[in-house]
Amino acid sequence: MAGSVGQVSLPPVELAEFPILAQRVHGNRLAYLDNAATTQKPRSVIESMTHYYEHDNANVHRGVHLLSQRATDAFDAARVKLAQFIGAQNPNSVLWTKGCTEAINLVAQTWGLANLGPDKRILLSAMEHHANIVPWQMVAERTGVTITPIPVSDEGVLDIDWLRANLDETVALVGVKQICNALGTVNPIGEIATMAHAVGALILVDGAQALAHAPANVVADDLDFYAMSAHKAYGPTGVGALYVRPEILRDLAPYQGGGDMIRTVSWEGTTYNDPPNRFEAGTPNIAGVIGFGAALDFLTRIGIDRIHLHEESLLEYGTSALSAVPGLTLRGTAPCKAAILSFTLDGIHPHDLGTLLDGHGVAIRSGHHCCMPLMKRLGVPATARASLAVYNTQQDIDQLVFALHEAKRVFA
Ligand code: PLP
Repeated sequence: MAGSVGQVSLPPVELAEFPILAQRVHGNRLAYLDNAATTQKPRSVIESMTHYYEHDNANVHRGVHLLSQRATDAFDAARVKLAQFIGAQNPNSVLWTKGCTEAINLVAQTWGLANLGPDKRILLSAMEHHANIVPWQMVAERTGVTITPIPVSDEGVLDIDWLRANLDETVALVGVKQICNALGTVNPIGEIATMAHAVGALILVDGAQALAHAPANVVADDLDFYAMSAHKAYGPTGVGALYVRPEILRDLAPYQGGGDMIRTVSWEGTTYNDPPNRFEAGTPNIAGVIGFGAALDFLTRIGIDRIHLHEESLLEYGTSALSAVPGLTLRGTAPCKAAILSFTLDGIHPHDLGTLLDGHGVAIRSGHHCCMPLMKRLGVPATARASLAVYNTQQDIDQLVFALHEAKRVFA
């Protein structure tokens, strides 16, 4: 269980809580190091969703019968849990979405279309995920707004001086990810929010990689929009959330039309519900939201501080272990980093490497990580990426390093 033995940091969870980790892959123990793509699910999350389907399955917010009331209670309770988890004062400032991608699209299609034009600029960090680039390009096609990337250094550090020098009242929005999925860089979102607000710009933070490792406090960090995905935080796929500052949310036009988001409908016209319902048309992913709530319970039970300490120690261990592999170059060496190890290995394409490592039971990701502009900036077509989570161990990293040496032998 929890704690450190000498220099060895043990996971602050029982690995048996994650049934999937017990399996063997190609005859080897599984070293699951693809957590930035999606995390594995603890039994409590899986069981919360099974329980809902076995006992409470009913639609929310519409039925007066007991099952519908139980489903609604569990659904609404998850919103309160998420609001508490990210420091939002009002649970109604949290909207359920399909994931982080839909959360950003919601901002772009509602606030973006209503507030952007040819006289405005959006500044997006040059390390953004496609999910925080493409929605804005789609808005730019319709509004004429200009999108400018905020430069990133070779080490993967955002150029804050450039940002300071380029912020003026023409900037309507600054978009930045809290933790870079491709490199691990942790961006100073509180500082960026202060700078953006000083010129009247809003800040959108992509928290996809941060929720399970170092979640924002939306009030202390003074964020306007915070986008999240449950599945990267031990929850299910197909559900995520968007926090919107209440003053902005109040006046935001609806995103999609349908049931639940209305107050009255007639052929003469429709009046809309208050947030959050105004933004949640149709039957939501009820089981997913309940599972998301269980994932937040899991994170709260373990404690973000303990998770952070463990992952930090693994990052340190992994950084020195990988640095010792001849021909390996770590990509992303920012001083403030989360437990993501991106690298290239001389003479082996990351895709080939991914396949070879899989043969040794090591699951990593290889590719552009949905950050093609960042890869271009770094001058690499792709990287291999090992991303760590609460259940990873030094043994996982040792297995990765062993497999890397084996891959080098194959390609020698
Ligand atoms: N933003 C970042 C930083 C990500 O890493 C990801 C997923 O990899 C996303 C956004 C998109 O998340 P989702 O696919 O869950 O919508």
